[in-house]
Amino acid sequence: MQLVFATNNENKIKEIKLALGHKFEILSLKDINCTEELPETQKTLQGNALQKAKHVFDNYNVNCFADDTGLVIEALNGEPGVYSARYAGEENNAENNMLKVLTNLKNKTNRNAYFETSIALIIDGVEHHFKGKAEGTILEEKSGAEGFGYDPIFKPNGFDRTFAEMTMEEKNNISHRGKAFAKMISFLENR
Ligand code: IMP
Repeated sequence: MQLVFATNNENKIKEIKLALGHKFEILSLKDINCTEELPETQKTLQGNALQKAKHVFDNYNVNCFADDTGLVIEALNGEPGVYSARYAGEENNAENNMLKVLTNLKNKTNRNAYFETSIALIIDGVEHHFKGKAEGTILEEKSGAEGFGYDPIFKPNGFDRTFAEMTMEEKNNISHRGKAFAKMISFLENR
């Protein structure tokens, strides 16, 4: 079965291809010649995931799924949350986003945080939702070069390494997106 993953993030495409093995054929937006930016204007992760998936389903008529992830930091009242991609404002690359987090957490003892992923899957026009969560702490400085986004400053509970110090496979096994994907995969396999 073919499924379009509504993302332009090559890392995520690699992650899901690794996780799905050879069970499903995963296509990217590039593969279906979808070059426009997907709308992402909702106030919740689930809302954004559904908005992106609906855009692809409605305009390209393909079974598809989209995800939206947020990093929720306790001491920052849940920030950056649904705004994780754009946390640093205009110059919102991963470096600047992490710098803003580290600056805002300076001298704070509560470093608890979690990543949450919401996935919206649309098959033959029917919507399905899946969620996954990874709890951990924000370190005082970056460590590791794997992964992407906030990975170098996030240490999952039960490990002494950041996500950026893990192989993609290790991260997939315990990550927010890995868990949400596992639920989606199990749903797809049992249909
Ligand atoms: P998105 O909604 O999945 O595009 O993610 C929103 C923001 O969270 C982006 O800035 C990503 O870099 C960041 N993000 C998403 N997933 C991860 C992850 O697995 N590790 C670190 N950062 C992530």
